[in-house]
Amino acid sequence: MIDLKKQYKQFGISEEVYAYGEEILASLQERFRQIDAVAEYNQLKVIRAMQTCSVSEACLLGTTGYGYNDLGRDTLEKVYAALFHTEDALVRPQITCGTHALALALMSNLRPGDELLSPVGKPYDTLEEVIGIRESKGSLKEYGISYSQVDLLADGGFDYEGIRAAINDKTKLVTIQRSKGYQTRPTLSVARIGELIQFIKGVKPDVICMVDNCYGEFVETIEPTDVGADMIVGSLIKNPGGGLAPIGGYIAGTRECVENAAYRLTSPGLGKEVGASLGILSSFYEGLFLAPTVTANALKGAIFAANVYEKTGFAVVPDGSESRHDIIQAVTFGTPDGVIAFCQGIQAAASVDSFVTPEPWDMPGYDSQVIMAAGAFVSGSSIELSADGPIAPPYAVYFQGGLTFPHAKLGILKTLQNLVDKKIITSDFCRA
Ligand SMILES: *Cc1c(COP(=O)(O)O)cnc(C)c1O
Repeated sequence: MIDLKKQYKQFGISEEVYAYGEEILASLQERFRQIDAVAEYNQLKVIRAMQTCSVSEACLLGTTGYGYNDLGRDTLEKVYAALFHTEDALVRPQITCGTHALALALMSNLRPGDELLSPVGKPYDTLEEVIGIRESKGSLKEYGISYSQVDLLADGGFDYEGIRAAINDKTKLVTIQRSKGYQTRPTLSVARIGELIQFIKGVKPDVICMVDNCYGEFVETIEPTDVGADMIVGSLIKNPGGGLAPIGGYIAGTRECVENAAYRLTSPGLGKEVGASLGILSSFYEGLFLAPTVTANALKGAIFAANVYEKTGFAVVPDGSESRHDIIQAVTFGTPDGVIAFCQGIQAAASVDSFVTPEPWDMPGYDSQVIMAAGAFVSGSSIELSADGPIAPPYAVYFQGGLTFPHAKLGILKTLQNLVDKKIITSDFCRA
């Protein structure tokens, strides 16, 4: 018999907390089997794309300087295009993060006088400055690109009549955020994104439909480009980097959308031809290879957290049994102490920086203090076990990542133990 209890005890996990976790895990085996099946499907998809594009050992090497004829870079972009069923892709370490990838996709495909529409409510925080919802230097607004927004209905549905009314002669590009991000609206399934795109194309066939795919990749067996999206955009320090990519972003889509983005990323005339990959390509390839199973591990961690905290009596989004379309889990504690104890528990489970204690701080760009737990091999990577929460009502924490399920499990058990030790939840929690 492997003595797991003893191992957990060394991390300060009591027998009660451990047993509670085991009981919940036992009830999740069927869910986990389904997640494994999706991971298996997507693993084969990735291998197939790599084989179709003849990935070779030479592709793992990089170039320097201008980066002309970078075989590995060009092949990797073909792999992404094959994987996402698009005409082309741009996958670069010179794309610094998800926000940069999204800004690039928008700025390169919109021209002065055009209008951008979000039919799914307010976009991710950092995009507010890109668009100019919050005044910012270099925003789309400064370049004469206007923005309109149609919120989701109270029940989370699309406001089809509102969207029809918002589409006008100027509407050039529609941005659809798949993940709820740090909001309480539901994450959109790929099927729902498909319905929305079909409606929008019905009203205006030539409008570009872009999907912010952050946190969504490999959660389902299809991606938004399988249901009509012209362009999907994401970060390599989230799902598709598989925890190995140390930087980067991607844009996959129509030849024209990708070409526009490439001319903007480098320079008109140069486009995809330049941009040395240096020594980074093997981490991009191997990360993509691992991404389906890494995403599955993160997903299992999120579902475990949802069930642990739901059964302990807290509000969780998504709930313990809902189908999943991204890897983010929200838990509402209702008190600052709960948010802080949770984040400190996640930090204490880290391999890197486990000995530091995160505290709330005044983060630039936020109204309230924020606490963040991140002990990551890649700084700020949120496919790795991480959590953060604003110290403001409703005092919710957002949890995501975990390269392996055992790590995610340890993190969740540490959070629960911390809440018990600090008497934020009573020791009879398991009978709640
Ligand atoms: C993370 C994220 C972004 C921004 O990515 P960064 O890499 O943090 O700049 C944009 N949209 C969504 C939905 C995200 O989850």
